[in-house]
Amino acid sequence: MSIVVVGSTALDSIKTPKSENPRLLGGSASHAAVAASFFSPVNLIGIVGDDFPEEYIELYKRHGIELEGLQRSPGKTFHWSGEYEVNMNNRSTLATELGVFETFQPSLPESCKEKPFVLLANIAPALQIHVLDQMKSPKFVVADTMDLWLNIALEDLLALLKRIDCLVLNDSEARQLTGEDNVIVAAKKIHDLGPEYVIVKKGEHGAVLSHETGLFIAPAYPLDNVEDPTGAGDSFVGGMIGYLAGTEGDVHQNLRKAMIYGSVVASFCCEGFGLKQTTQVTRQLIEDRVSRLNQLVAF
Ligand code: AMP
Repeated sequence: MSIVVVGSTALDSIKTPKSENPRLLGGSASHAAVAASFFSPVNLIGIVGDDFPEEYIELYKRHGIELEGLQRSPGKTFHWSGEYEVNMNNRSTLATELGVFETFQPSLPESCKEKPFVLLANIAPALQIHVLDQMKSPKFVVADTMDLWLNIALEDLLALLKRIDCLVLNDSEARQLTGEDNVIVAAKKIHDLGPEYVIVKKGEHGAVLSHETGLFIAPAYPLDNVEDPTGAGDSFVGGMIGYLAGTEGDVHQNLRKAMIYGSVVASFCCEGFGLKQTTQVTRQLIEDRVSRLNQLVAF
C-alpha cells in the first residue's frame, strides 16, 4: 500500500568536526521518503525553489518516489545548516532560511487523498493539519515534530495530536511537552493528549514504543563510525511507516518489527553525509542488518 509523506524538502549545509558539506539534499520529507521507498510506493508532498538541483529530482525518481505533489516555485529552496560537536550527539542550528516554505500551502493531488498511510514528517504543525484535512480516511497517521514547534506552535501541535494515531518525538521533546522527566511516564501523558501509539526516540540508545497494551524497546543498530546523523530520526520514521505499508497484516501486529526496520535504515543514514549512504542501500543490506540486530538482542 502507498504512503503520503509531507515535510521539509531542503538543502542542508552540514558541518562536523571532520568535514563540511554544503547544500546537500536534505529535509525531513526527503530522508523519510527515501527510507520508506525501500518497502512501498511513496508520494512526496513538499516545495522546492528554482535553485533546487535537477540531480536531486533524479535521485527521488530513482527511488520511485511519486512527485506530483512536489511544488516548484520561483525563489529559494528551504536551507538549513547545522554543526555537530565532537561527540556527534550535540548539534546546533546555524541557520534556517525558509525561502519558498514561507508561503507553502500543501495541496494534495486527487490521487493522494485516499492513500491509507500518512507520514506528517517534521514541518510546522499547521501545515501537517492542512494535509490531514485533505485526506479522505487514512488507515494510519504518524506525525513527527521538533522542539521548535513546542516553543512557537504548541496550540497547533496539541490540535494535531488529537487527530493522529502515532506520535514520534525524541526524549527531550517528550520531557518538554509533558514537563515529566521520566520518558515512560511522559509517553503515558502523551497518550492522554490523543495518540494511541507514542514512540520516544533516544538517539544512539534506540526508541521506546508505548501503547496501552505495553512497551516495546527497539535498539539502535550499533555503529563504529558515524559520519553525519542528520536525518536519522526522519529515516527511522520513514523506514518504519514504509515497512508497515509494505507488509500484510494489521498495523498493531507489525509495528514492533517496523521499528526495527526503521532503526536499521537510520543506521545507514548516519554512515554518510546527507542521503549519500541511504541511497546506496538495497533491501538485502537492510535484511542483513535486521538479522544481525536480531542476534544482538537474543538472550
Ligand atoms: P533530524 O536530524 O532527524 O532532526 O532532521 C534533520 C532534517 O530536518 C534536516 O534535513 C533539515 O533540513 C530538517 N529541518 C531542520 N529544521 C527544520 C524545520 N524548522 N522545519 C522542517 N525541517 C527542518
